[in-house]
Amino acid sequence: MKLLEARPLAQEMESTLKERVAQLAELGRRPKLVAVASKPDEASQAYLSSQAKVAQRLGIEYKVVEPSHADERAYLGIIRELNEDTSVNGVILLTPLPSGVNEMNVLVALSPQKDVEGITPHNLGSLFYEREIMAPCTAEATLRLAEYYGVDFSGKNVVIIGRSVVVGKPLALMLLKRSRSATVTVCHTKTRDLTSITKKADILIVAAGRPKLIGREHVPKGCVVLDVGINSVDGKLVGDVDFEAVKDVVSAITPVPGGVGRITTLVLMEHVVKTTETVVSV
Ligand code: NAD
Repeated sequence: MKLLEARPLAQEMESTLKERVAQLAELGRRPKLVAVASKPDEASQAYLSSQAKVAQRLGIEYKVVEPSHADERAYLGIIRELNEDTSVNGVILLTPLPSGVNEMNVLVALSPQKDVEGITPHNLGSLFYEREIMAPCTAEATLRLAEYYGVDFSGKNVVIIGRSVVVGKPLALMLLKRSRSATVTVCHTKTRDLTSITKKADILIVAAGRPKLIGREHVPKGCVVLDVGINSVDGKLVGDVDFEAVKDVVSAITPVPGGVGRITTLVLMEHVVKTTETVVSV
């Protein structure tokens, strides 16, 4: 079994990003990422500060702004300000948004050029046209990690568990893209007889947010498993796949932690650097 660890790819990405940030500094530009967060709880605070740490390591400015009120007007106001602020290169939204704030309205208001999470309708819609201008970070990270290790999707039966806007659905489109040409099946909570479907997978991608959802009985011999899930169980981070149960059956698997999650943060930072470079070159 091959362990598809993030570390070597993460090191490569970090050093390339540092070089790109240094080149921007020579032009007098420092990439800036702003997180819009209303009253972040403890878990969200931890998430934001771990992002801030990575940004700092790479030389990217990172700021958290709080809308004046937890209502839609305040959110739309702050998004408009950030759209117009030329010192800001990327905007991310801490979700779920407060109740009463319509997420779609906020996403439509955000400039696609600053949507470094790749979740505005414009950037998501581009995936239908096989254009990954700014793909959702987790979906992109999953494929980057697999492709780094030479996983070939062409003609393969790829089963995705999860149909969220940020992971399952964009992954399905990105895998259908002609350059990957996978045969894709997407499963969700209403899927009947999950095992019979996963048993036919050459590559299984799990993004359900359910620890131990996938066990020995789900995976065929030689299957490649990409575990996107991140769950906290008894204070420990685990994926959606029962690693111990499947490790002797699969041909390769991403670990949790130390897998897709680590690459996701770097893809986000890469998007910020990319948008900054675009502004400089205009
Ligand atoms: P979500 O809750 O929005 O979506 C989960 C999806 O899984 C749903 O579409 C649901 O239908 C499906 N699902 C849930 N239980 C199922 C079951 N028993 N059988 C079949 N399908 C089932 O979650 P999300 O935002 O897509 O995140 C999924 C997981 O990925 C979570 O654990 C999350 O923490 C993790 N995540 C990881 C990263 C990363 O960087 N690795 C980033 C974002 C999310």
